[in-house]
Amino acid sequence: MTAEAGGGEPTPDLALFEGPEPITPPRESAGRSLTRRQRELLAAGQHPLSLALGRPLRLHPEAAPHEDRQARGRRCGTCVFRQTMSRRGHSYPKCSKGEGRRVSHGAATDCRSWWPGCSDHEEADNSTSN
Ligand code: SF4
Repeated sequence: MTAEAGGGEPTPDLALFEGPEPITPPRESAGRSLTRRQRELLAAGQHPLSLALGRPLRLHPEAAPHEDRQARGRRCGTCVFRQTMSRRGHSYPKCSKGEGRRVSHGAATDCRSWWPGCSDHEEADNSTSN
């Protein structure tokens, strides 16, 4: 169907609705979403395990800076509470502090060695950085 504007050329109906299709951003995967939220927490001065705990977990006053993974300072990788746990033939680094409250069977509680240490950090005797 067409309409005429002031006796001139007919203009097609729906002309206002034509144009390029809106661009829909790609959907964020669960892993990327988790990483993004963990980075946001670090930037806000909180430990990434705050997500799993459901409450803020402060960083240690001597925690390494999160922007520089080579910088000195306390990190989960040097903490006595970071332990490797096995399940179904796979190994997962988890934080054993708090009687299992920081451990789940999901990636949300995997404890990265480079993460700045939380306020509960205790230096392991023979720290590893894997
Ligand atoms: S207790 Fe240790 S391993 Fe656990 S989150 Fe804190 S620094 Fe990391």
